[in-house]
Amino acid sequence: MRVLRLLLCTIPLFGQTTYDLLLKGAHVIDPKNKISAVRDVAIRDGRIAAVETDIPAARGRKVVNVAGLYLTPGLIDLHAHVFAGVAGPMLGGGHSSIFPDAFALKAGVTTVVDAGSSGRRNFEEFKRTVVDRARTRVFVFLNIGGHGMTIDSEEQDVADMDAKAAAELAKAHRDTIVGIKVAHYRGPDWGPVERGVEAGTLAGIPVMVDFGDFRPERPFQDLVLKKLRPGDIYTHAYYAPVPMLDEKGKLMPYLLEARKRGILFDVGHGGAAFEFRQAVPAVKQGFAPDTISTDVHSGSINSGMKDQLNVMSKFLNMGMTLDDIILRSTWNPARVIHREQLGQLSVGAIADIAVLSLEKGKFAFVDSFGARMDGTQKLVGELTIASGKVVWDLNGRTRDHWDQLGKYQGLGEPYWDGSRGGARPIKVPAPPQ
Ligand SMILES: [Zn+2]
Repeated sequence: MRVLRLLLCTIPLFGQTTYDLLLKGAHVIDPKNKISAVRDVAIRDGRIAAVETDIPAARGRKVVNVAGLYLTPGLIDLHAHVFAGVAGPMLGGGHSSIFPDAFALKAGVTTVVDAGSSGRRNFEEFKRTVVDRARTRVFVFLNIGGHGMTIDSEEQDVADMDAKAAAELAKAHRDTIVGIKVAHYRGPDWGPVERGVEAGTLAGIPVMVDFGDFRPERPFQDLVLKKLRPGDIYTHAYYAPVPMLDEKGKLMPYLLEARKRGILFDVGHGGAAFEFRQAVPAVKQGFAPDTISTDVHSGSINSGMKDQLNVMSKFLNMGMTLDDIILRSTWNPARVIHREQLGQLSVGAIADIAVLSLEKGKFAFVDSFGARMDGTQKLVGELTIASGKVVWDLNGRTRDHWDQLGKYQGLGEPYWDGSRGGARPIKVPAPPQ
């Protein structure tokens, strides 16, 4: 009986393709393909197989009703700290990295970019202990400092910022290292920025800058108007020291000039780098971020930042549209790191998907300075799919009812993994007598 059922499952229906998973009825937002409408989405072999107005339920081995929800490409968090167990003290106030699966998947995030937690001297350890083990896809901005963010003095040691060696390592790990990070520098000179840009140029990858201490000897305006190249990223866009508004509260024109040059502005919320007093007036005057990211670490996750969806919800309540916010959390970051096969739902693309609910009610949001902003909308992660597999399911939408599974035979599969027809009991061997 069981064999017959398996056979039936694999026989194509009337010669048509069957899909591993069919998600029906959600409002799909796929900015790359300019789709913002109700669509059915089908997955097969870990890839997007179809995005159409109506795909018959009979064609899905597993069919999930997601009507009333939003379905987007898996979110990409461009600024995270995931060198768990090692990188910490320089993240601010002694905070540390977090293993990516512990926070990303439940917030619809299927890809994180670690922003400089490791440098060339400990990248291999980072790769072995986190990047290669996580279910979340992890890319790396390699710190220009040799030891990344493991100890404060390392990020101040310009002598150990070897552009050539960093570029060589980046070239040897093109599949993982997508950029160079410069961060937390307190000195008066441009040394770290210049060496970071040199490494980025040698390896042909972008540079992300956390400007550290803002000092008169190296004005921020020069960073974005002269030092960085088009495609480079300034993170912590709404950090209080950024010269953003003039005495009358008007957005300073040089920011638009920098943007015209191709400099990208990333949120990088973190524990100290996002202030409503900067962000609300700037966004109202048209200075929205290019990418929305968390700068997640053990401090920011427990304060105003919380998670990617909370940061996105802040911008939603500041008046940006949901479509704009999804663009800045999917297709935009994919392009920034030159991973255009991600952040989109074209047929053939890797099936990384976030299904989100948009809750309406009375909510409040807190910034890095402890200030509060009230809001009426909040995004919640309902279902996350990575490479076609369900990795987060808040309300058991992909699961079968407990009273329809027949006789209990043993431990079930913890996740529907795309190759089985649902939560079928799996027979486990009896314990030895
Ligand atoms: Zn950071």
